[in-house]
Amino acid sequence: MQTINNFSFSGQKAFVRVDFNVPLDDKFNITDDTRIRAAIPTLKKILSDGGSVIIASHLGRPKGVESKYSLRHILGRISDLLGIPVQFADDCLGQEAVEKSAALRPGQALLLENLRFYAAEEGKPRGLSADASEEETAAAKKAEKANQKEMAKQLASYAMVYVNDAFGTAHRAHASTAIIADYFDADHKLFGYLMQNEIDAVEKVLKNTVRPFTAIMGGSKVSSKIEIIENLLTKVDNLIITGGMTYTFTKALGGKIGNSIVENDKLDLALSLIEKAKDNNVNLVLAVDAKAADGFSNDAKTQFVPAGEIPDGWEGLDIGPETEKKFAAVIEASKTILWNGPTGVFEFENFAGGSRSVGQAIAKATDMGAFSLVGGGDSVACVNKFGIAGRMSYVSTGGGALLEFIEGKILPGIKAIRGY
Ligand code: AMP
Repeated sequence: MQTINNFSFSGQKAFVRVDFNVPLDDKFNITDDTRIRAAIPTLKKILSDGGSVIIASHLGRPKGVESKYSLRHILGRISDLLGIPVQFADDCLGQEAVEKSAALRPGQALLLENLRFYAAEEGKPRGLSADASEEETAAAKKAEKANQKEMAKQLASYAMVYVNDAFGTAHRAHASTAIIADYFDADHKLFGYLMQNEIDAVEKVLKNTVRPFTAIMGGSKVSSKIEIIENLLTKVDNLIITGGMTYTFTKALGGKIGNSIVENDKLDLALSLIEKAKDNNVNLVLAVDAKAADGFSNDAKTQFVPAGEIPDGWEGLDIGPETEKKFAAVIEASKTILWNGPTGVFEFENFAGGSRSVGQAIAKATDMGAFSLVGGGDSVACVNKFGIAGRMSYVSTGGGALLEFIEGKILPGIKAIRGY
């Protein structure tokens, strides 16, 4: 397999799929350009080798051509970060894109309009009427799959080499993220730096694990994390279950949880995960105390109570001091750490303390030589909020893609290039 470090792009035209799905305000200013910055090393490497780049991305969830989702809004920022004027094609398919990509000289870059202006990118029919028959639905799906192949083929025709640097969409089998790779031979498709770094970080944690391995799973609901927890139970030494999902476990174990967030239909599941942990010799670590509040607000009255003894009318919004100590001891003795999800409602400053202390324990363990991977939305927001992102070994840019990768699934965007 080719790697970006070893590949010389001199004289090559590269189609680079990036994930520039950045947040915009109502005046179309970029409010966070992390995703653009993350792909710049790959684009710069191609350009400085003497290659040219055709940059392709989606933005938002358009239902067709919608100017508010135009990539023109982010053209200026890409040009600034690359340090060259980037050209633009108003349509990712069609004559203009063909001509502008054909005319690219070494060192030049072209940005294509939003791939998702076409339903074929996702390969799913749009606007199917609710009362379409089964046959009509099946025919529309088949037609859109054919369109998807056609779109992938056209996009592929612009370039000599395909580079996928869009980790955020690696779990999607879309025209530009996976199908397109079929139109390049094995020597002309590769991962960009970001994609490679993400894959390396996850595989370092899950495959080349240095023990003890501790995973910290937080967040609101156990139902959204079942598959990850089940996969991790076959891999970790310690599993810290925290955040809102704690209370489903506490209740299942017979504790009192007051008004805390709970999934009453997942009590049996919680018990079966506890059993599975025992069977696998995994040390399942749960909170021993909680910071309870008399309402869901930063200004609510609070008290620390033992886990399982939350009074009626109160709800657990974060872990308590004894739990902080307990979690920190486990984390600081670890050599591999995975963190997904806060210990409490970290958006409220008064309930951010537990997440901060977990973050600090991870930073300390990392300073002592552990490998730490943080990812999946809110835990990234946590390390940024607490100013400790730079002390983690790797902070993932992927949300859903990272979670599916940790679940043990094969991601189409990765398989399309390396075959698994
Ligand atoms: P998730 O998206 O599943 O990772 O969940 C993250 C969200 O869980 C954050 O917005 C937190 O505010 C929320 N959360 C964490 N702990 C609690 C809790 N004890 N009660 C309610 N929500 C919580």
